[in-house]
Amino acid sequence: MNKGVLAVTAVAVCVFLVLVVGRYPFYTAVPVDPDWEVKAPATIPPGAVTVRFTGTTTLLFSDGTTEWMVDGWFSRHGLWQLGVGKIGPDSAAVSAGLAANEVDKLAAVIPVHSHFDHAMDAPEVARQTGAILMGSESTANIGRGWGLPEAQIRVLENRAPVAIGAFTLTAIESQHFQFPDPEIRAQALANPSIEAPLVPPVKMLDYRVGKPYVFHVQHPKGSFAIFGSAGFEPGALQDYAADVVFLGVGGLGSQTAQYRENYWRESVGAMQPTRVIPVHYDSLTATLQGPFVGQSAILSVLSSGADNTLHFLRSKAEENAAISLSTLPRYKEIVLFE
Ligand SMILES: [Zn+2]
Repeated sequence: MNKGVLAVTAVAVCVFLVLVVGRYPFYTAVPVDPDWEVKAPATIPPGAVTVRFTGTTTLLFSDGTTEWMVDGWFSRHGLWQLGVGKIGPDSAAVSAGLAANEVDKLAAVIPVHSHFDHAMDAPEVARQTGAILMGSESTANIGRGWGLPEAQIRVLENRAPVAIGAFTLTAIESQHFQFPDPEIRAQALANPSIEAPLVPPVKMLDYRVGKPYVFHVQHPKGSFAIFGSAGFEPGALQDYAADVVFLGVGGLGSQTAQYRENYWRESVGAMQPTRVIPVHYDSLTATLQGPFVGQSAILSVLSSGADNTLHFLRSKAEENAAISLSTLPRYKEIVLFE
């Protein structure tokens, strides 16, 4: 084969992968240090508060009595579907994701906001587990569009604590990550509300942001907070502290150094945890098997600046000797509080 034919073949293969298969093969590296990954313990002490991580911000919490989930996002669509096609929950992927997390009954499923990578599958998770879907009015409309009964939907009030077994969850309205590009920012964040039941399949951007929350969770054994998106509202968390912070870092590297500092100050700085667990750093299009990979290189919006994110987290780990940084393995049960 001469060089011209080789080049044409290579381009054809790439076009085939992107357009037909919808899977762009080149993923960036995850912007976290492999040394940070904690190992799953051989045994879980009875009554311990534990977490399991699927990827992005999908987290399963348990104290041995009550289990509940953040997001519950298990469907992974290819770039073609995300970009120009339509998307909706993949029930088989949700079943497989719940099985991988060894859970079939949940008290609640609570998306951090209403974008597809957080809220799309939550009603199907609720349908399969009996969970109450909790969130903003936009998330409620995602539930209604999927046919979830009203009795299984609860709209959260800003800063009003909700009991989930022995867990007390407070949803604090905050800001979504601010995309540096004004056009992308407008596409993703303008017209924030889903005003009517959303019946999938729909365009990715039909999953409007809704209200972006920070979750503060108090349990008799300890407290934690979940930042699903790297956004902040100055001063909003001054009345809250947490032992553990789950820190969403998606897109953070594409912002300015000042933005990253402000985000850290308004999240970790405000809550004074002893442990920080970065989340939302893995691909939105890769499968849920195997090691975590970073964003698809073609999704430059999300993957650009991954080096900045890693550098930023490493420098924060160095500056803050009292804070341990850890990342979670996929699906395995990790103890937060014994
Ligand atoms: Zn989002």
